[in-house]
Amino acid sequence: MLTTPTEMPAAASIPAETLFIGTVITVAPENPRAEALLARGGRIVAVGDESSVRAAASADAQVVELGSRALLPGFVEAHGHPTDTAIALSRYMIDIRPVTIAAAADVMTAIRDGVAARPDGAYFTGWDSLLQSGLEEPGIELLDEIGGGTPIVILHNSGHVVYFNTAAAHAAGIDKNSPNPVGSHWVRDDAGELTGKGFEVGAFFALLGGVLQDAQRELPALLTTYLTGLNAVGITTVSDMSWTHAKAPALEALRQTGVTARLRLYEMSVPGASASVPLVNGDDLISQVGVKTWADGSPWVGNILLSFPYLDTPAARAVGIEPGSKGSANYTREQLDGIVDQYFPHGWQLACHAHGDLAIDMVLDCWEALLERSPRADHRLRLEHVGTMNPAQFERAARLGVTVSFLIDHVYYWGEVLVNDLFGPEHGGSWTDARAALDAGLRISLHNDGSVTPAEPLRNMMVAITRATRSGGHLDEVPGITLEEAIRAQTIDAAWQVQAEQLVGSLEVGKYADLVVLSADPFTVTPDQLPALTVESTYLAGAPVYQRN
Ligand SMILES: [Zn+2]
Repeated sequence: MLTTPTEMPAAASIPAETLFIGTVITVAPENPRAEALLARGGRIVAVGDESSVRAAASADAQVVELGSRALLPGFVEAHGHPTDTAIALSRYMIDIRPVTIAAAADVMTAIRDGVAARPDGAYFTGWDSLLQSGLEEPGIELLDEIGGGTPIVILHNSGHVVYFNTAAAHAAGIDKNSPNPVGSHWVRDDAGELTGKGFEVGAFFALLGGVLQDAQRELPALLTTYLTGLNAVGITTVSDMSWTHAKAPALEALRQTGVTARLRLYEMSVPGASASVPLVNGDDLISQVGVKTWADGSPWVGNILLSFPYLDTPAARAVGIEPGSKGSANYTREQLDGIVDQYFPHGWQLACHAHGDLAIDMVLDCWEALLERSPRADHRLRLEHVGTMNPAQFERAARLGVTVSFLIDHVYYWGEVLVNDLFGPEHGGSWTDARAALDAGLRISLHNDGSVTPAEPLRNMMVAITRATRSGGHLDEVPGITLEEAIRAQTIDAAWQVQAEQLVGSLEVGKYADLVVLSADPFTVTPDQLPALTVESTYLAGAPVYQRN
């Protein structure tokens, strides 16, 4: 899995040697700060005090005087979806995310305009009635009325619900007799008819897999655009948590034009299947490292498995959450046992989406039994997002060697929704408790989850430290983490989660020169000011992949 060929990004020009002088934040345990760093041939060859690093440089090394700026390891997005997000945010779909459109009326206008402009099929991404307050669930009658013969598919911002009309169902060959995709289901009325709503990724792919073929063909170019955007926020390694082997030719094509971020792929589990590639595959730039499963769904649509009920509020009812509901899981324990046995005994790392505390218990039970059947010392089993995971569960995870990755932006964008609309102060206010995870001894990462919220590692750090919400509140039922911990969660510990810590994640001799230059030393600003720092430049293996104008 960890190989060390010396391949470089094909398109970028690589200076033979670059000497950085100034504030160097290494994230290395021994020497967390240095005065200079020398990159040669894509690797870090010296880091330390200025005089010794200068002495190691050749006379013609390109010199970068950092001045008031700071050099850090390139950021790692440990839980992304680049191959899907590149399409979701392309011209093939219409962006109605709450970060793009705030008002409910404007969302409906965008849907009607989209149908008028695209009579062959209008596909939307980003519906979220909890943030776009006043939106009502779009039943099949409404979407039939809006669309007529035009297929309409609307993906919920969470990626866990899809809405569609009759024309879209026809186009996809789905009707009332269609079976539920495994791990997913179609919502039906009392007569068994489709209601225009489906849960989970299997439903989404059934509706859109065929119609987005043009986008799939264009995937190499769309990915280039998307990865360039990640470089602009300092990201140099990103995982793909919804990888399928069908997309492999697109990545091979992308290699020909130059890849500007390392990709670590997690193939979506399929009941009964085995991994599509051997355990040892790819190279330092692109490799498949694991397998992804979804134990439950999204807090915003009611399908996370909880020990306590959702609040009964108008907002909860408006998204279809029944009073007293404790949510649901996508798989039974028996189904999960089957899936893990398909992959883990062959050496694969597993990553499992789990938000509800009972879903987390189920996964930990499953994995504890798995580790008894198939012991492995360094397995890095990953739990993803973990909204309601509690201190006792973090401690159990630590005993099992399980690691967690937080969608910390839930606090920022949905903080008030969590407390006031869905879960109350106890459970909503302690959402994504990174402090408890660290106190239990876990290594953690922070992530933005593809298109769910804009990828911004510096804002993630601020939120993890302050637990601030977008509207000025704070979810301070639990304390935040420190800046050092937050930086580790976007660099070395995130790299460790995606099995790349020997290559990247800290500035140490021998690792790749994957670097980000920030406008100031993050330790000299208040946590609230972190998102206002700018990314001045980003390097992959010593080659500039982003320069701020
Ligand atoms: Zn995800």
